[in-house]
Amino acid sequence: MIPPIASRFVAGETPAEAIAHVEELNERGVNAILNLLGEHYHERPPADEDAQAYQTLIEDIDQSGVDACVSVKPSQIGLDIGEEVFAENFADVVETGDEHDVFVWVDMEDHETTDATLDAFERLTTEHDGGVGICVQANLKRTGEDLERLSDLPGKVRLVKGAYDEPAELAYQEKSRVNEAYRDYLEFMFREFEDGVAVGSHDPEMLEYARELHDEYGTPYEAQMLMGVRDDAQYDLAAEGVEVWQYVPYGGKWLSYFYRRAMERKENLLFALRAVLGR
Ligand code: FAD
Repeated sequence: MIPPIASRFVAGETPAEAIAHVEELNERGVNAILNLLGEHYHERPPADEDAQAYQTLIEDIDQSGVDACVSVKPSQIGLDIGEEVFAENFADVVETGDEHDVFVWVDMEDHETTDATLDAFERLTTEHDGGVGICVQANLKRTGEDLERLSDLPGKVRLVKGAYDEPAELAYQEKSRVNEAYRDYLEFMFREFEDGVAVGSHDPEMLEYARELHDEYGTPYEAQMLMGVRDDAQYDLAAEGVEVWQYVPYGGKWLSYFYRRAMERKENLLFALRAVLGR
């Protein structure tokens, strides 16, 4: 069992615990994007195992009737082993998603994985006529061109600022420049993407800008935020009628994820320390 201190950011170790969390979210008008924690497998068995676990999870989502989809990491289902391993496992997960009417997202990892992830997405979203979503990162200088390519495809796109340290020749380094790029890309997406826009950010300024763009262009959109980060804002947005999806990690590999969340902001670290000290 995960300790209560980590349960702000992680929904539990098992699919059953994760689905119980989703039921609570759904009652508050928030949908869920389930992510089984795991990444960077260098051997085939764990990559195949997690791809299989996602397929079982999809069946569980369908059976339980919750409003949830899944999001997989390329290196979790084989990209570090080989592009063909990733492509095969990703195709199996998307196929199962299609059979059970459960949407499948693919997260975006560091810049060395961008082409392989886009290529696999393009193949599958074309084959399945949507039902698949991909994430792109505003800090990468190539993202404007990637969005042009994605605007011709079915499926959904989540725009995030980017979580990986990338070299200066490939990525904007200053926060203000990343924010500027984020706003530009959002505007492009609301203008060009008929299937809707996924705003993957906790930033009140970006969420407000998305609302303005929605009013201007009429394009549907959803706000996506992490479990444990601005939860109240998630419930408030849902109550105002915005479609909100909470990214919900679960699984046995919760420790390093929890550590990352606790360290990224002073308030999260204080929250963790207070929980340890019982205050
Ligand atoms: P920031 O630029 O970090 O902060 C801007 C403002 O937002 C802050 O000033 C504050 O007002 C508010 N805020 C931000 N964080 C907090 C907090 N913890 N508590 C309170 N207020 C806060 N990255 C990838 O590279 N690949 C992915 O596939 C990917 N998927 C993601 C999926 C989802 C659903 C989300 C939400 C993020 C994902 N990310 C991914 C991470 C993303 O790239 C950013 O690193 C992360 O979201 C931080 O950027 P931000 O836009 O939320 O806000």
